[in-house]
Amino acid sequence: MLPLKDEDRVRLLSAVAKRSTSFEAIRVVTMTLSLAIVAAVPLMGIVRIDLWQGHHLRLQEGVDGIGALKGMVIALSILYGFTFLTNMVVGRFFCGFGCPVGYVSRLGEKVDRARKTRWLRWLEHLRGAGFVAAFVAAVMLWWVDPRVLLDGSLRARILTLGIWAALSAGGFFHAFWWRFAFCVKACPIGLYYRYVTSKAPVGIVFNESPSKCIECGACETICPVDLDPKRLGESLVVRDSDGYEDERYGDAECLRCGDCVAACLLVFAKRQGEVAPLRIGRLTPHKHETPTANQSKISA
Ligand code: SF4
Ligand code: SF4
Repeated sequence: MLPLKDEDRVRLLSAVAKRSTSFEAIRVVTMTLSLAIVAAVPLMGIVRIDLWQGHHLRLQEGVDGIGALKGMVIALSILYGFTFLTNMVVGRFFCGFGCPVGYVSRLGEKVDRARKTRWLRWLEHLRGAGFVAAFVAAVMLWWVDPRVLLDGSLRARILTLGIWAALSAGGFFHAFWWRFAFCVKACPIGLYYRYVTSKAPVGIVFNESPSKCIECGACETICPVDLDPKRLGESLVVRDSDGYEDERYGDAECLRCGDCVAACLLVFAKRQGEVAPLRIGRLTPHKHETPTANQSKISA
């Protein structure tokens, strides 16, 4: 049994999915691209530090460990720079649309959405497991030459497959247990982006002109990281059910996943002539107010 908020989120996600929003289609494309880039770098010989057999690579040439390490630092810096520049413009867009770890959480939710049909549930389990296994394999290609599975020692083959299976099992566990709590509480990249890209000019805009918000709560319910999309420009102190207080930085924590916009569009779909107050767009300066004592609020 899922907690109440998650139950409602899953129900809303199912309703949104039936309208086939463009966000999900975009996410499939960007996620495939992310995975393809991670796998392509070592497969094309751009860089690899081969921990088993020392078949280190840099720009398709065999190099020693130090040379490969330098290549690794450069490759990771380029990948990081690319996500950083994207996030400088659209906030934590990479978290919402490019991060495979975040996407794994979504695959777990797809299993929840399919819970009434057993075969569909199994299919979603398989899809989630397949994605996790592919992602782990892509990451391992940076550290292991796959030829070890053909001509390596028995020990090397067993260990390589064992590490792949253990990491995949960990990813699968993440998909069904930890989910987006990881993005909020533990992801070091997310934590970093929360501060350095918090003034991105594009994000979730709440504008009640020309149509008023009907305060249905759908956007808050569907938000995977428990934000209030109508108040992302504010800094809030939130108290959880155990009484612990936590500071939330709205706009800096928003993953730009688009779920709230999709939910609001769904709510307004039947309201002829009205415009959904939530959208993705350019943020006005007041959306970037820094936290002050007056702005902080306690919500249960
Ligand atoms: S989903 Fe739209 S209408 Fe409903 S509370 Fe959020 S902003 Fe208002
Ligand atoms: S506020 Fe909207 S876009 Fe931001 S994380 Fe929540 S649902 Fe996603």
